[in-house]
Amino acid sequence: MKISVATGGAIAALGVDAGLKAIKDAGFEAIDLGLDAFFLQKDKMDEDYLAYLMDEKRICEFFATIKEAVEKYELAVEQVHAPTAYVPKKPIETEIMRPTVIKSIELCEALGCRRIVIHPIFDGSARYPSLTPEEEYSENLKYFSSIIPFLKKHHVMCCIENAYCIDWGTKKSYTTTWSDVRELNRAIDELNDIAGERCFGACLDIGHLLILGIDPCYALEIIGDRLEVLHVHDNDGYNDDHTAPFFGVCNWNRFIKGLRAVSYQGNMNLETSSFVDLFPKELVPDSLKLLSAIASYFREQTLAERT
Ligand SMILES: [Zn+2]
Repeated sequence: MKISVATGGAIAALGVDAGLKAIKDAGFEAIDLGLDAFFLQKDKMDEDYLAYLMDEKRICEFFATIKEAVEKYELAVEQVHAPTAYVPKKPIETEIMRPTVIKSIELCEALGCRRIVIHPIFDGSARYPSLTPEEEYSENLKYFSSIIPFLKKHHVMCCIENAYCIDWGTKKSYTTTWSDVRELNRAIDELNDIAGERCFGACLDIGHLLILGIDPCYALEIIGDRLEVLHVHDNDGYNDDHTAPFFGVCNWNRFIKGLRAVSYQGNMNLETSSFVDLFPKELVPDSLKLLSAIASYFREQTLAERT
């Protein structure tokens, strides 16, 4: 089990080379490369991210920078986060979503990474729901089925993340497509049947569970061996803060109990870029050191009863 962290905060503050060096120096062994962070931050991009992703020359140059730093600092790229977006009231194979996800799968293979995290397609606003749950289920099934040939070609597994949606007026959060872990299981099993092999697994986001009041131990036990990767982060129970564990209200003992119960074999990955974002760049390396210590603690706790 490697300790791993999402790259967003460190790279945003320090750039690719110094950001990955700080991650390595903090003690992390692996990274969760956030393509979502790179390509949605307009201030860091001259042009639209779709145009960027589709420009072979520029994307090759950009990825050469990442690959060089990853190799220099001996960091494993264990998971990539696709630059997914919500697509309410639009056909699923939109001109934005599908090509960026397919390009991300290609880039995943180029970086030696075997797992890509992709959000289901849903309306993020509970105030204006665009589709019924049944429609969302079948649209998502169609969408994820359509990327199976690319997953197989590039030897990448798609990890589907449990999401939530929010009423932006009242700030109340609600479940949405595949927030329910039994529904997520059903979708993963159905998609793997369609693929004829295991192309799909789960990315369990602990912060999203907390917002929806779902016990992490329960969710882990229900998902079982479908679990491929983790998004570990904390919040105040209402907002998707993506802060460090123990800075919010999650019951981390229940998280560890669940990981032990399913004999989790994957990495301990923190998705805590917003915690890193709290600090001036001079303190970013120290914020990463605290995150690394927390990830190590969780790893020790998870593995403790197995020895
Ligand atoms: Zn997440």
